Amino acid sequence: MDTQRVLRLARECGFELAGVARAEPLAEFAFYRTWVAAGMAGEMRYLADHRASLRADPRALLPQARSVICVGKVYHTSAPGTHGTADGGRGWISRYAWGEDYHVIVRAGLRRLLEKLREAIRADFVARVLVDAAPLLERALARRAGLGWIGRNTCLINQRTGSWVFLGELLVSLELEPGQPAPDRCGSCMRCVEACPTGALVPTGLPDDPAWTLDARRCISYLTIELRGTIPEELRSQMGRHVFGCDICQEVCPWNRKAPVTAEAGFQPREYAPGLAELASLDRGQFARRFARSPVRRAGYEGLMRNVAVAMGNSARPDWREPLERLASTASPIVAEHARWALARLPERAG
Ligand code: SF4
Ligand code: SF4
Repeated sequence: MDTQRVLRLARECGFELAGVARAEPLAEFAFYRTWVAAGMAGEMRYLADHRASLRADPRALLPQARSVICVGKVYHTSAPGTHGTADGGRGWISRYAWGEDYHVIVRAGLRRLLEKLREAIRADFVARVLVDAAPLLERALARRAGLGWIGRNTCLINQRTGSWVFLGELLVSLELEPGQPAPDRCGSCMRCVEACPTGALVPTGLPDDPAWTLDARRCISYLTIELRGTIPEELRSQMGRHVFGCDICQEVCPWNRKAPVTAEAGFQPREYAPGLAELASLDRGQFARRFARSPVRRAGYEGLMRNVAVAMGNSARPDWREPLERLASTASPIVAEHARWALARLPERAG
């Protein structure tokens, strides 16, 4: 089967972007190892433990793999980013988490693609569907497959769709013609680096490939989603009202100005700038039910309550005293400590 036909099938399965990379050792792994060794993965042990070396070569996940079909699915909608909401009572949620869990939607699309490939190809072949969770340098592969370049904000950017795109892969034992990497179109722009509130985008000291990287330990996405423990105090006041993730370095990117929007029903905004008081009042059961099909559940109940406390501290409204006092008296020492930090920032109530 020729590559163009594979790409047509991918589009029929709902992927705006598709391309092919060879399943072979990745030179990009050398920098990944340096990044992990520098501690920039923070406490994300799954990036640094024995699984790290699997990223050196996609064949670690499927020894017979010859090609990687990389796909991209747009999740952008017409709603503006939540961190622009003027209402100080609302929390900010990363765009990718407004709708349903993308893993389910992207995996279903890749399974459809695999079925179509099996129908179209008479010979036997082995395949593996991957969405995000497997140890794979997926942005490096997507770049090699021609889906876009890796911007200074470390996101994969496509000239046509921007960076509001979920990635997925299909490892196959088929020999397919690989694509050509797209040229880097960041030019002299530094908007993302300048806009990052915590200074998480840092120079690598290398001339390029990559000249900039993400120090996850300072990134609000990491702090609000992946970090299980205490958020460093010096970063809390720079986190605004982010309660799950951060999109600032993508919102400011000129390549996202005219990003197309998705028609996918599952990606339409559901959890859009929820009220902080309402979030603070959730018990464990309500949290589990409300976010059962949402990426937000990854933060965990205590993680979300900790983030809500920091967001309340940063918006510092006097009426946050009561919900924060409740959070300060919960059994979780982490939630309680962040709530005390937030309480100390509230203005005294008049009278
Ligand atoms: S997601 Fe937010 S905190 Fe992280 S690098 Fe981008 S702007 Fe900075
Ligand atoms: S904001 Fe500018 S430098 Fe950053 S990723 Fe976009 S184009 Fe590249």
